[in-house]
Amino acid sequence: MFLSEAEILAAVKRIAEEIAADYKDEVPIFVGVLNGAFMFVSDFLKYYPYPCEVSFVKLSSYRGLTSTGIVETLLDVPENIEGRDVIILEDIIDTGRTLQELVHIFSNTNVRNFKIASLFYKSEVYNGEYTIDYFGMEIPDKFIIGYGLDYKEQGRNLRDVYQINQTHMINLVLFGKPGAGKGTQAGYLKEKYNLKHISTGDVFRFNIKNNTKLGQLAKSYMDKGDLVPDEVTISMLKDEVEKNPDASGFIFDGFPRTAAQAEALDNFLESKDMKIHATIALEAKDEVLIERLLERGKNSGRPDDQDESKIRNRFEEYNLKTAPLKEYYEAQEKFHSVNGIGSIEDITDRLAKVINTLS
Ligand code: AMP
Repeated sequence: MFLSEAEILAAVKRIAEEIAADYKDEVPIFVGVLNGAFMFVSDFLKYYPYPCEVSFVKLSSYRGLTSTGIVETLLDVPENIEGRDVIILEDIIDTGRTLQELVHIFSNTNVRNFKIASLFYKSEVYNGEYTIDYFGMEIPDKFIIGYGLDYKEQGRNLRDVYQINQTHMINLVLFGKPGAGKGTQAGYLKEKYNLKHISTGDVFRFNIKNNTKLGQLAKSYMDKGDLVPDEVTISMLKDEVEKNPDASGFIFDGFPRTAAQAEALDNFLESKDMKIHATIALEAKDEVLIERLLERGKNSGRPDDQDESKIRNRFEEYNLKTAPLKEYYEAQEKFHSVNGIGSIEDITDRLAKVINTLS
């Protein structure tokens, strides 16, 4: 996809005219969302013909928690906005996660009127939670740069907008029973191949620690060694992927664990022109794993690592729900098995051998 400067400016002008028609008798405050929206805000204001004010907000990152309202701002909402008409100017709305954070930070202010305007709008992926009052262009769910939008902070200065090709990615699933060493190996592989490591177990534990809604929901299942319901896990996983639009690949650790999760992952990745390149299983015997987990439980404080019956329950969940995924990935010719017993380095080498064969 390519959008020329002229097309973009036409869209900016259209939004400015639409908002002008609605607000000509007021003095609205336009609030740009940094960094991406700076160029849009600048051109927008040039097209806006009536009295107005401008300000900016900046969220700390898109990596904060969302379901809870743990939101950090680097540049906070403008002062003296009580009783005013506020219009958010966003460069792009995709899943709506940033928007959710924005609405949250403005929910404590007594503004008279709060509207949302976005230059680009990915209607296919937007969760629809809030009304988008004004938008410039609907675009497909592709990663774009230029006109303020970046790839690893670069490309914001381009006048036109370009689509980034993501075919160079490597996406891996690390497969294996609890204690097989998935987390440890992912730690090495992510450095070696510059990948983003997503451990669903870690995300759940982070949420439990922060006592978020998601954490409260997951805790009772995790403490017993049961799987968290698919619906919850799948939407969390998608959220984690969406948070890293510029990743050069992912290591999925502890996901998928059920057939429904595997199918959901394939469909989700396909919608983003992505795919799983390989599923690599780390194999080890139950006795070895139990020993490793009980040892880890002494330091980790994880309740599910401290009790043999809970560990056995996790194995049962695995045998029943996760092991059948072997066939699912074999049918796609993506399943690889690696001996998970040995030194950490030896096992990393075995994994690297598989990964290096991937195109
Ligand atoms: P882990 O850290 O991967 O051993 O995961 C610890 C616990 O988190 C599991 O026993 C489950 O309760 C929960 N969990 C992690 N990943 C998933 C998943 N993909 N599906 C369901 N539950 C999960």
